[in-house]
Amino acid sequence: MSVTDVIIVGGGVMGCGIALRLRQAGVKVTVLERSIPGAEASSAAAGILGPQMEAEGPGPFLELCLRSRALYAGLASELRELTGVDIAYLPCGVLKAAFTEGEVHHLEAAAAWQRAIGLRAELLDNAQAREVEPQLSPLVLAALRFPDDHQVDNRLLVRALSMAAARVGATFRSGYVRGVIEERGRAVGVDLDGEPLRADAVVIAAGSWSGLVQGSALDPRIVRPARGQMVQLQTRLPVITHILTSEKGYLVPRTDGRLIAGSTMEFAGFDKQVTAEGLARILAMAVELCPTLGHASVTESWAGFRPYTEDRLPILGPGPLPGLFLATGHFRNGILLAPLTAKLVTQCLLGERPSVDLTPFRYDRFSARAPA
Ligand SMILES: Cc1cc2nc3c(=O)[nH]c(=O)nc-3n(C[C@H](O)[C@H](O)[C@H](O)COP(=O)(O)OP(=O)(O)OC[C@H]3O[C@@H](n4cnc5c(N)ncnc54)[C@H](O)[C@@H]3O)c2cc1C
Repeated sequence: MSVTDVIIVGGGVMGCGIALRLRQAGVKVTVLERSIPGAEASSAAAGILGPQMEAEGPGPFLELCLRSRALYAGLASELRELTGVDIAYLPCGVLKAAFTEGEVHHLEAAAAWQRAIGLRAELLDNAQAREVEPQLSPLVLAALRFPDDHQVDNRLLVRALSMAAARVGATFRSGYVRGVIEERGRAVGVDLDGEPLRADAVVIAAGSWSGLVQGSALDPRIVRPARGQMVQLQTRLPVITHILTSEKGYLVPRTDGRLIAGSTMEFAGFDKQVTAEGLARILAMAVELCPTLGHASVTESWAGFRPYTEDRLPILGPGPLPGLFLATGHFRNGILLAPLTAKLVTQCLLGERPSVDLTPFRYDRFSARAPA
């Protein structure tokens, strides 16, 4: 079935990305956002586009991440053209550092399986790693370089996506969506602060809050918030060029000398506190990776909520009712996965066969094992 009129609940990177693609396909779109577009996880993120750095093994999820990464260069040009905003897509590469023999073994294993499936991954010894990144700690034993993992400035990205969607005709409305309206077994709209709004289809893209939208078909225990705290450091001159990462966290260098350091992983409900312990752990990680950062200024800190699912996979595609679609649960990789998610969800809404098999990402895979 094809639709002509769609409501999207949530104006994060998912909601804005889907709105842009649907509008470009000629569909009337209204994005409903209770705050401002990009107010939540999409602005809190680090902007790492790192399928290889994140991967635990080959499979459909890695495939999804790689395909989305491949869409970024084109998306950056398209958004510049549509809005004039440069989203700072930077092909900087990632260097994953090992401080112990055990971590070196992990890097060797990752290099082996990733190369076996045709991905670029270069194992460097301490001297080679410090040649590439002179400010890397002398205590690093080895590092794995992923030259094809990159970054984007996610705050600029979500701003550009929302501007682009508005420019091609998507409507944005402020308000809190209480629930999906169901009539005769199909989703026909939403309740926006008590006002019924009707549409052919509804997309739930409300990030960590998706399960709180009544009628979303998502139990709030299935999509839940995983808090991540972040720190921004500033040095006069940029000190690193790659994204640096270790078992304890990561450092993302922006071109203007800012460094985004993260992150914690905490299940603290919707408590957005930045804590002394969280900051201490992140700053210790940063200085361990790159000792010269002991002199850097701390210029900002914040926390955000990753939309977590038990199997750490997103929930994509049709929901349980005709007219209800889901685009949530992207956990640590929502910035990376936004371009492909927008494309796949649009294909579903247009009644086309999605260009990726969405079976591993179905909403109902949890029904037998929802956590207590
Ligand atoms: C600290 C941190 C670091 C991260 N780093 C990275 C990274 O480096 N790379 C990467 O790929 N990903 C990263 N992520 C993950 C990424 O940010 C998320 O997966 C992604 O932003 C999710 O986008 P979203 O649009 O689903 O959710 P959100 O951005 O949270 O947007 C959901 C929106 O829905 C709105 N909303 C919710 N409920 C309602 C309602 N009832 N009515 C109206 N509006 C509603 C909210 O206000 C919000 O604006 C990180 C996340 C965090 C927190």
